[in-house]
Amino acid sequence: MASPELDALTQALARLPGLGPRSARRAVLHLIKKRETSLVPLLKALETVSETLETCDICGNVDTHNPCGICTDPRRDEKSLCVVEEVADLWALDRSKLFPGKFHVLGGRLSALDGVRPEDLAIDKLVARIEAGGVEEVVLAMNATLEGQTTAHYLAERLERFPLRITQLASGMPVGGELDYLDEGTLAQALRLRRPVA
Ligand code: ZN
Repeated sequence: MASPELDALTQALARLPGLGPRSARRAVLHLIKKRETSLVPLLKALETVSETLETCDICGNVDTHNPCGICTDPRRDEKSLCVVEEVADLWALDRSKLFPGKFHVLGGRLSALDGVRPEDLAIDKLVARIEAGGVEEVVLAMNATLEGQTTAHYLAERLERFPLRITQLASGMPVGGELDYLDEGTLAQALRLRRPVA
């Protein structure tokens, strides 16, 4: 029988995506056994992240500093801006290392069903970034879902008045596909074959 403290830890871990009660129990046992090499470093990492975590005022990425590492990276191409639904999508694309530009996180997708309207997303912020000048291409990297595509069309209309090349990920993306779940090859292909928004 575990103590209430260990129980609380197990329950907290079990609420994480991808972990259930069984994996959470195994993780807790591992942390107990490997106190010095697992528990202590994990605790330190959690503390650091918890104390320093911020949402980037420019792009909406989550990082330990604001503006984030991507926005402040001088090697990134300011002329290309990739618009994504969620931070997880930004991280997926960034992991693929194929997009040399900067990002913009909307914070979701338009959805009549869930009552998500344009003003609920970081769309005005996106328009303001483009109005500020310097951006030549916008890649609409929405998920291949109905709502993702609705959002892409809406954005394409909102950005019509700017002298931009507006592209979206190629249809190599499986229908209903979510960026975060794609393997890097598929993602790379979708990005490389990006096409103008019709
Ligand atoms: Zn940023």
